[in-house]
Amino acid sequence: MQLIVATRNTHKTREIEQILGSKLTVRDLTEHPEISEIMESGTSFEENAKLKAIAVSERLPGLVVADDSGLEVDPLGGAPGVHSARYAGADASPGKKIARLLDELAKIDAKSDQRRARFRCVLAVARGGRVLAAFEGVVEGKIAERPRGSHGFGYDPIFIPDGFEQTFAELPEEVKSNISHRAKAIRKFQADLPKLRGEL
Ligand code: IMP
Repeated sequence: MQLIVATRNTHKTREIEQILGSKLTVRDLTEHPEISEIMESGTSFEENAKLKAIAVSERLPGLVVADDSGLEVDPLGGAPGVHSARYAGADASPGKKIARLLDELAKIDAKSDQRRARFRCVLAVARGGRVLAAFEGVVEGKIAERPRGSHGFGYDPIFIPDGFEQTFAELPEEVKSNISHRAKAIRKFQADLPKLRGEL
């Protein structure tokens, strides 16, 4: 059975494949250039994940899963949150987004015990334009003083998950793939897969 991940971010696809790859053939939108970017016009991760899952499952057959995710930083009132991908402008590099976030923390002089943050991910599963389910995963941690490491993507170089000293970008990929927000949402999806299959 095939699963289409509604993303062109191959890091996300790989994380999903590492968990579900033995049960499903995982594909993503890198194979579908005809499908244009879907506007993330929602105000929550769940809304955006559902928008993406619906739009892609209207165009492609089979089971589609869409992820919407981001970083919530407590001393910044939960920012960048749903705006994580566009925090320093639409086409800003990950480095620019990280620089803006560290700047904002410096402005309020956030000390190391005041840098609480979490990654949140919602996975929406759809078929034929209809949402079948949504699953949420969260990983708690804190924001590092400066970027460290070269693995992963996005804000990984400044996120230190609870229980570790290293950032997500310093930890081996297998560790992130095991404890990440996305991993937790995927495992919930995996647990419900037999039930979802019944609805197909
Ligand atoms: P999305 O592709 O609209 O879900 O955008 C989510 C944004 O949040 C990404 O562009 C990243 O900046 C950030 N993000 C989400 N998940 C991760 C992660 O696992 N590591 C680092 N950054 C992430």
